Amino acid sequence: MSEATTPRFRSVLDRFVAYKPGKVVVSPEGRSFKLSSNESPHGPLPSVVDAIGEAARNVNRYPDNNATALTEAIASFCGVPADHVAVGCGSVGMTQMLLEAVAEPGAEVVYAWRSFEAYPLLVSLSGATAVQVPLRAETHDLTAMAGAISDRTRLVFICNPNNPTGTVVGRAEIEAFLNRVPEDCLVVLDEAYREYVRDDDVPDGLTLCADHPNLAILRTFSKAYGLAGLRIGFLVAHPLVAGAIRKTFLPFSVNSVAQAAGIASLAATDELLERVEGTVKERDRVRATLIADGWTVPPTEANFVWLRLGVRTMEFSEACDAQGVSVRPFPGEGARVSIGSPEENDAFLQVAKAFPHRN
Ligand code: PMP
Repeated sequence: MSEATTPRFRSVLDRFVAYKPGKVVVSPEGRSFKLSSNESPHGPLPSVVDAIGEAARNVNRYPDNNATALTEAIASFCGVPADHVAVGCGSVGMTQMLLEAVAEPGAEVVYAWRSFEAYPLLVSLSGATAVQVPLRAETHDLTAMAGAISDRTRLVFICNPNNPTGTVVGRAEIEAFLNRVPEDCLVVLDEAYREYVRDDDVPDGLTLCADHPNLAILRTFSKAYGLAGLRIGFLVAHPLVAGAIRKTFLPFSVNSVAQAAGIASLAATDELLERVEGTVKERDRVRATLIADGWTVPPTEANFVWLRLGVRTMEFSEACDAQGVSVRPFPGEGARVSIGSPEENDAFLQVAKAFPHRN
């Protein structure tokens, strides 16, 4: 196509690099351990597979666009009326919906950095202006974030636990922050990893909503609930907030198979949370082993660990690749390693032990 006939795209795309998902690698011996996307190492429960199979029979029909039964199941699980809930195509989809609801030229969105990769991507696509506040000691600096809020700030993301560092902010800090945020600015507490939190000082965001009508809690079925491939996220907030966000829903973007699997997974919460308990034990074992081997690993409340490796990040990631262990490198910064099955974790620990440098 000659230049003259090239379609004109938004200039934001000139510098834009699309989201890069965690990769899969295979060692020369054929070993492959995917620890790059913070997924559950377990396949779906038989009851969930049955629900998926049943729903698959009807995929000639559009899904329930309101995801009524799923929304009601989530609401009852969270102990709120259904009008406090909005669902979306993964919490990434919900993040985009949130931005659709608030972003207009000149609007600012505040978030910590480094944090979840999708924030800068989706903020820049939305046309809003990103205001990134550096982490302090690998943790959200909520005092600095409160200081970064201006009268143009429409949205703040707090990722708790933070991806990729695994670190958390506690109740007192969050409450002090919420008390400083203007009421017309939406605060989103992204709790994608909530089920892995064992630190009692970290509040369950759902307990904060009643006192803060500008607070939205973002959750996902992709991690503890093991449905990453089906793409379901949800938000709990004041009905006026949830209602505004629901308006931005891309029609039918939570499909009928996903809706059925979400409902079946909530019905199997006890079994799924038992699996989470195993992951938490593995997380603590992985971190303790790394520390015993001389690594510095920030305390993590999520299903991953963070190794700050600076200029050695890619060297480390390549050493992992060679053994079939895929981790998530952030070049020049560090590597995030998901907690997998004991066997997968052992494969990673072996590479880490053999790596000639410590961080
Ligand atoms: N928020 C955070 C902090 C995440 O780490 C992730 C997944 N990596 C998500 C949201 C998105 O999850 P999903 O879209 O699969 O629900």
